[in-house]
Amino acid sequence: MKYPAEEIKAALERGELCVYYQPQYVTMTNRLKSAEALVRWIRPDGTVIMPSEFIPTAEESDLIMDIDWFVTEHVCKTLVRQNMMPQFPVSVNFSRRHIREANFAEKLSAMADRYDLPHPLIEIEITESAMVDEESKFSDWILSIREAGFTVAIDDFGSGLSSLQFVKDVPADVLKLDKSLLSRNCEDEKERIVLESIFSFAHRLHMKTVAEGVETKEQLAFLRSCDCSKIQGYLLARPMPEDDYLALCQSNPTAEESVDILRIQSPASAANLLMGVIFRRYPLVIFSNLTRNTYYGMTNQNFTVTSCPSAGMYDDLILRGAETMEPDDRADFKAAFSREKLLADYENGIREVRLVTRQRGDDGMIRRLETVDFFVKSVYSDDIIVISLCQNLPD
Ligand code: C2E
Ligand code: MG
Ligand code: MG
Repeated sequence: MKYPAEEIKAALERGELCVYYQPQYVTMTNRLKSAEALVRWIRPDGTVIMPSEFIPTAEESDLIMDIDWFVTEHVCKTLVRQNMMPQFPVSVNFSRRHIREANFAEKLSAMADRYDLPHPLIEIEITESAMVDEESKFSDWILSIREAGFTVAIDDFGSGLSSLQFVKDVPADVLKLDKSLLSRNCEDEKERIVLESIFSFAHRLHMKTVAEGVETKEQLAFLRSCDCSKIQGYLLARPMPEDDYLALCQSNPTAEESVDILRIQSPASAANLLMGVIFRRYPLVIFSNLTRNTYYGMTNQNFTVTSCPSAGMYDDLILRGAETMEPDDRADFKAAFSREKLLADYENGIREVRLVTRQRGDDGMIRRLETVDFFVKSVYSDDIIVISLCQNLPD
């Protein structure tokens, strides 16, 4: 059923709109971490009207702005009621229409300050919509909200409303994965690959992740293996009235948990840790596909040669690398690492190639550079891959 805008407005004015809270939990530990505020229209006879029945109409006009500010103010009051108990952050849904609102970040700050609330306790959730005309202003808008100390999440990623382009351009802190991305038990391999890739790029963009609509233990187990930060869904809690939510907060300590040991159990975070350890010794790691003549490099900060592009053709990489070597070492370098030579080495059963050259860094200094190549056969094809670990040796 769809309600006309005048009826929704009248309901807001009569105080029939109220706010439910759906808890969000740390994926690894199932501990309460935060909540999302979700509006409900409760009729005098007690009937609960869901947002899908009135938010789309409200979004057609500025009525949605009044609703969103009403919800935000309500959230502030709830957070104040949490003052004497553990305070958990709350996220609020904001329509993109607010981008047209002058001084949005100031208005939000003023409201939080009126209730004496630290700004990080409030998170803003936004969804991409068809308002392409304001694309360039959008990033500035998000930045102004973050600069005021609030957190910003991209909601419903993967629902068709939120594109990769949007994630790339919008400087948000959190990526919320839409429930449509999760099947009941995540057993389809393609689905798992897509989800793993989303978590991987979110982590590399330094975004926290929240999975919505988690309904089964199987989904939870899979999300743990992806290193998803938080989960929200019927498995752990449904949206609930404020009093029930406050009772839940009271029975949950906020003390920072020592999750490190647990986190290592997630393959994605274990891989990240491993990379961290490798980078400590080897500031440049290059993955090359000798069969296809391509490479991809990962650099840590402070490596002396930053002129190496992070991806390209392997043969070019060797030519370019040789140019940074001392003239006497160039021939050795090219001979040791040419594709033909490495492929022959692999065929001959050699599993490791090591060479020390003298190399001029970006700062003009000459240092001894050790390159060690390890061969691996691709698990997906017959391609021969080489992983190169590079480090500057002490003089
Ligand atoms: P949303 O922001 O993506 O909120 C998540 C929706 O997923 C909520 O529906 C929640 O009840 C539902 N959900 C949570 N866990 C599960 C689960 O395990 N399974 C399933 N099937 N569903 C789950 P809800 O409360 O009906 O809200 C629908 C949408 O309405 C929200 O989607 C949001 O886009 C919009 N909305 C809600 N409150 C507000 C508001 O105050 N302002 C604005 N602008 N939009 C709002
Ligand atoms: Mg939301
Ligand atoms: Mg959502």
